Amino acid sequence: MNRKIENKFLTNYILMFIISTMIGVFAFMLLGFANDVLSKTLVKNHYTAKSLMRDDYKYIDVTSVVEHGGGIQIINADYEVEFSEGLNTITKDKLTVEEFTEFLIMSKSVGVPYSYSIAYNAKGQFWLIVTFPTSIRIDIDIAHNKDFVSVDTENVVGFLVAFILFYLMLLAISTVIYSKLTSIGVTNPLEKLCEGARRLKEGDYSSRVNLNLKNEFGELEYIFNKMAGQIEKEIALRKQSEENRKQLVLDISHDLKNPLASIMGYAELCLNKTNISEETYDTYMKVIYGNGLRANNLIINLFELSRMESLEYTIDKTRVDICEYMREQIGTFIAVFDKALFIYDFEMPENEIFVKIDLKQMDRVFQNLLDNTVKYNPKGTKVTISLFEQQKEVVIIFKDDGIGIPLELTKKIFNPFVRVDGARNSQTGGTGLGLAIAQKIIGAHNGTINLKTDVNCGCEFIITLPKN
Ligand code: ADP
Repeated sequence: MNRKIENKFLTNYILMFIISTMIGVFAFMLLGFANDVLSKTLVKNHYTAKSLMRDDYKYIDVTSVVEHGGGIQIINADYEVEFSEGLNTITKDKLTVEEFTEFLIMSKSVGVPYSYSIAYNAKGQFWLIVTFPTSIRIDIDIAHNKDFVSVDTENVVGFLVAFILFYLMLLAISTVIYSKLTSIGVTNPLEKLCEGARRLKEGDYSSRVNLNLKNEFGELEYIFNKMAGQIEKEIALRKQSEENRKQLVLDISHDLKNPLASIMGYAELCLNKTNISEETYDTYMKVIYGNGLRANNLIINLFELSRMESLEYTIDKTRVDICEYMREQIGTFIAVFDKALFIYDFEMPENEIFVKIDLKQMDRVFQNLLDNTVKYNPKGTKVTISLFEQQKEVVIIFKDDGIGIPLELTKKIFNPFVRVDGARNSQTGGTGLGLAIAQKIIGAHNGTINLKTDVNCGCEFIITLPKN
């Protein structure tokens, strides 16, 4: 690609060079033509010495020349200025032969600020000199004798050809150098951008480009780096969700395997053992039922969770006084706490605070928090449920001073299947889905649920819900 752009630049410059040379030649021709047209309009060409000449100089039309800013001098055979009118560049009244010859030579030389037209009248034996000031003169002329061949012609033509060739070569070299220099400014950043894109294509999502330019390439660099960052983020998210999915499948199979193995084992015993006592049979049946219940719970919860994750999931909100709602909840909690020999305390404001909630789903959240507190903590645990109002939301705190959860699980505990201790949960029948479901429900209410905890420091679930 590098080469192609460089070649393109070179062709463009060569093309430009040819075009400008052609324009130069054309302009030269045009100048010649314009010169012809212009010279016809110049006063000096209207009033030439030849056209004004009379045998008796007294009849020469001096007035028109003087009116047009010129002058007329008559030099007689003794090189005396016999007559002068208007512009006069001959400062003496009488000239020597040398001075007059010098004047004649000077009158024809290039770069003189006057134009002279000189003619000799043989009859009257005088020179007529017509002088006009030059306006602007460009003297470019190629003189060539067509009638006689000069011995110098070969040398001069050779020199001219060599000069033109040298000039063209110089131009060609500078064209190549210039095209190289300008193409570097384009190809270098392009190469870096291509390298970055190639690395990205090959799966290196950390690929970034550093051009340090403030032009359009700098803009492209910024967009490229932004895009690469976005891709890197998306890929990481996709990897994470793939990991989560794999973990979920593993967790589900693991959690279903134990109750099902137990059901199959005990059912097989019941089927194969003939001399089984009624008491043992009952025990086996209870185990089968318990494990069936556990597997069923898991499947129901899983179904609920995946339903909540689907886009169609909606909640059915009702506007309620959250203080009154919590008082009703606490009413049912008390019996459970009493049975578990827990100590409890409630702090509810007397005023009304309205929120919009799905009553059935919210019951489920508090039921889960209640179940967990009772399930995982020893008797004598103190539970405090409090509610207070903030500017835009209500905060409900569900706190116990029980065994707590390790600090590092504070956030993870809301992920499906995360449990503190597998053995502890297999006894309690926990699925590890309760808090994940609770978080989904609170999220659907535009609220938040967070946990403050550590081992032996109890758990403090903080729920916020928008006021309405
Ligand atoms: P489950 O209770 O079905 O296992 P949850 O998602 O409701 O699932 O809870 C996840 C884990 O958090 C529980 O297994 C338990 O280890 C821990 N946990 C939840 N609440 C408490 C609590 N109040 N005190 C101690 N541990 C708790």
